[in-house]
Amino acid sequence: MKKVLIIGGGPAGMMAAGVASQNGHDVHLFEKNPRLGKKLGITGKGRCNITNQGNLEDFMSQIHGNTKFLYSAFYQWSPQDVVNFFMEYGVETKIERGNRIFPVSDRAYDVIQAMVQFITQAGVHIRCKAEVNDLIIENNQIKGITLCDGHKECGDIVIVATGGLSYPGTGSTGWGHKLARQIGHTVTPCLPSLVPLITKEKWVSELQGLSLKNISIRIQEPDGKVIYEDFGEMLFTHYGVTGPVILSASRHVVPYGKKPLHLWIDLKPSLDFETLDRRVLRDFETFRMKDFRNALHELLPKTLIPVIIQLSKIDPNKKVHLITREERKKLVYLLKAMKLTIVGHRGFDEAIITAGGVAVEEITPKTMESKKIQGLRFAGEIIDLDGYTGGYNLQIAFSTGYAAGSHIS
Ligand SMILES: Cc1cc2nc3c(=O)[nH]c(=O)nc-3n(C[C@H](O)[C@H](O)[C@H](O)COP(=O)(O)OP(=O)(O)OC[C@H]3O[C@@H](n4cnc5c(N)ncnc54)[C@H](O)[C@@H]3O)c2cc1C
Repeated sequence: MKKVLIIGGGPAGMMAAGVASQNGHDVHLFEKNPRLGKKLGITGKGRCNITNQGNLEDFMSQIHGNTKFLYSAFYQWSPQDVVNFFMEYGVETKIERGNRIFPVSDRAYDVIQAMVQFITQAGVHIRCKAEVNDLIIENNQIKGITLCDGHKECGDIVIVATGGLSYPGTGSTGWGHKLARQIGHTVTPCLPSLVPLITKEKWVSELQGLSLKNISIRIQEPDGKVIYEDFGEMLFTHYGVTGPVILSASRHVVPYGKKPLHLWIDLKPSLDFETLDRRVLRDFETFRMKDFRNALHELLPKTLIPVIIQLSKIDPNKKVHLITREERKKLVYLLKAMKLTIVGHRGFDEAIITAGGVAVEEITPKTMESKKIQGLRFAGEIIDLDGYTGGYNLQIAFSTGYAAGSHIS
């Protein structure tokens, strides 16, 4: 029996703790918050998208790099294992759009409860309000940990599952990354990911709260190189844009820093230019005696109309039948390619995930063991692994946590 110390009571740490304890080890879980799984509680807007049902290939296509490293952990603890696991602890699941899996109850709290039940029944010693300060290492071998209150705890294995840097209010402040660097691990540059984007155009604030469904976006460098394209839903904020397609795009945009990029929004992607032009013409026939400002309500959401009118440069008080063919064509172009300029992104406090982390080349994929310090392991978001929204990031936490808690002899 080994004494296993786990730092971090998120999904990765709890999974590692439960598995190691079930395998007969003396496991102690240290969490600095008063309760376990604080971030887990806010996942999926409080509903917790626990994993994704897509096949392995689809799954890996949603992870940004280092997929080769992940295969072993995924084979050990797959999305189906996650679903079965939660079922065993009384959390029934359902599949939603894009193969996203949620608890039937729509309550992230149930997911936390299930994990707490799992580790409690497995016999894990849970230590909340216990912030770890340092590792005790002798001759490149783990000997234990030091807590912030000065208490020392000896141990044979230490699993660092302290998360990334996103939403630091939940406890994930990047402490583990600093520690990893100090003990000689490489930490790849950490950037906020799945994060809202800031635009130059101030008129976006007029659209704050407006959600656009079934739109498509294209993001390009000023020289025209396409960085990202997507179809789905987005939302305007007082500083820029967010929502599913924007968050996914941010993974590709953030590395550009403040370098301006073009965001083109196609408000009517299902209609090509000619078809949309015919549609606008029809509306213009119907409303021919009205002012232009009163002719777009069948085409666009109410709040968007003043902005589109402004961008079209057509006089809002012009009678529709006086609008020229050229003006109408310009309007159709605008609806197919509304342009915004991205000039930055929001910070870690609004990022769903951290891109970057402890370099996978220095971790054994099957066991999550450090190749530098004997007895040290990593699990979860602290590792340089991240995916899009859709349950992929929690699956990474569960799979790497499972691998880290297994194979201890
Ligand atoms: C708003 C939001 C919504 C999300 N929704 C989803 C979703 O629906 N589906 C999905 O797949 N992913 C989602 N994610 C991502 C997901 O939450 C993370 O990928 C996941 O929580 C990472 O798990 P982890 O165990 O590695 O780290 P964390 O969950 O961050 O847990 C790390 C724990 O370590 C503790 N800790 C840190 N330092 C110390 C220390 N020195 N001593 C003791 N304890 C310490 C922290 O307090 C924390 O509790 C979301 C993230 C956010 C921010």
